[in-house]
Amino acid sequence: MKIGILALQGGYIEHKNILDNLNVDSFYIRNKYDLNQNIDGLILPGGESTAIGKLLDELELKEPIKKLIDNNLPVYGTCAGMILLSKNIENDNRRHFSKMDIKVKRNAYGRQSGSFITSSKFNGISNDVDMVFIRAPYIVDYSDDVEILSIVNDNIVAAKQKNMLVTSFHPELNNELKVHKYFIDNIVRKNIE
Ligand code: GLN
Repeated sequence: MKIGILALQGGYIEHKNILDNLNVDSFYIRNKYDLNQNIDGLILPGGESTAIGKLLDELELKEPIKKLIDNNLPVYGTCAGMILLSKNIENDNRRHFSKMDIKVKRNAYGRQSGSFITSSKFNGISNDVDMVFIRAPYIVDYSDDVEILSIVNDNIVAAKQKNMLVTSFHPELNNELKVHKYFIDNIVRKNIE
């Protein structure tokens, strides 16, 4: 099994560390040639969705990745990665991969409480998943196909639709392994079987 990590901007190194800890092979995707190798799953890290979106266009990575997602490649988007996957963004006209039937609000927690750490329930994982929020989005609307996996302070912060998993928060910044393990065991492995 090999997981690709989009490594254009943002916190991709931390995702690699988590996968290393889980003994899962991974590689960075920095240009379209990196997609020529076998890939069983994709991680879209946090960072700035506008910057990552711009680089995806410039490097001609957007269309090939969209095709992989259409072909059922398992994808996990954290924070900006969630924004990249959303079909709708409440407070931004830009659209990126536009694949998941969710509407998100960017920087949804405002400036004052823009960043915080908590431990909360994540359906199918545990009652105490460590969650780091940094100028995070949350989900404000979704279709019937979307399964809600975590709600923190009345806001939806994790969801799944078919091959796509998204979290508003960063498990990788607190060395929280459980969400990546869930992605590998429940989405990536099932897709390979
Ligand atoms: N605020 C960022 C955005 O809108 C997301 C922040 C993050 O990924 N930590 O793209």
